[in-house]
Amino acid sequence: MLLKTDGVVIREKGTGESDRFVTLLTRDYGVLHAFARGAKSLKSEKQSGTQLFAYADFTISRGKDAFVVTEARAREVFYKLREDVERLALAQYFCELTGLLAPEEMPAEAYLSLLLNALYLLTSGKRPQPFLKAVLELRLMSISGYMPDLVGCAQCGAYTDERMFFDRREGCLLCADCADHGEPLTSGVLAAMRHICFAEPKKVFSFTLSDAGLHKLANLTEGYMHTHLNHTFKTLQFYKQIKAQ
Ligand SMILES: [Zn+2]
Repeated sequence: MLLKTDGVVIREKGTGESDRFVTLLTRDYGVLHAFARGAKSLKSEKQSGTQLFAYADFTISRGKDAFVVTEARAREVFYKLREDVERLALAQYFCELTGLLAPEEMPAEAYLSLLLNALYLLTSGKRPQPFLKAVLELRLMSISGYMPDLVGCAQCGAYTDERMFFDRREGCLLCADCADHGEPLTSGVLAAMRHICFAEPKKVFSFTLSDAGLHKLANLTEGYMHTHLNHTFKTLQFYKQIKAQ
């Protein structure tokens, strides 16, 4: 059986002299692990379409034991990500996180378009890195079943208050009257969180926030993610090491 779909290479590992073992995030079949025979060879037609971050049209056959990439036609290789070590590290983290949360062998269009948009914006440098990181983290959490309840205070239902608080563990809001715990949110950060969770897919990256707000937002989305996912992200640790240098 042949599968035809487009997707991004989210992990790539050389195997043997000239083969690659790749993890793909595809539109129609979600996360797939597959061999690409001869793909490391510069002469191979599959060479550019099976390298890390490549967005390509794939033809994949389902073998007895594993999937095999029989064709890979690159549409975009995001070459510029490799020119900057910070961007490269962040892109690898985006791929690791998306690969963890996206379904395997099931349609994953929302995940693919989110990752592609994040990679395009990261390549262009048009949006600050904390912005992209926060959007990707919170939106991925939301579409994979971990959407926080941001409609109003979990106790009394108040939509806005001078100060609202976020309960990371319960994933809910509390107003100043009801809160005896939680992290305080500015109105800008709360509006950004609501936008990321509720906006239609095409508009999820369309908002602005002050630098201070972005810093707070990025800490918050990362904390929320760590609270609910029992996973150590080596790529995130690496990104932070580079940032700290
Ligand atoms: Zn309340």
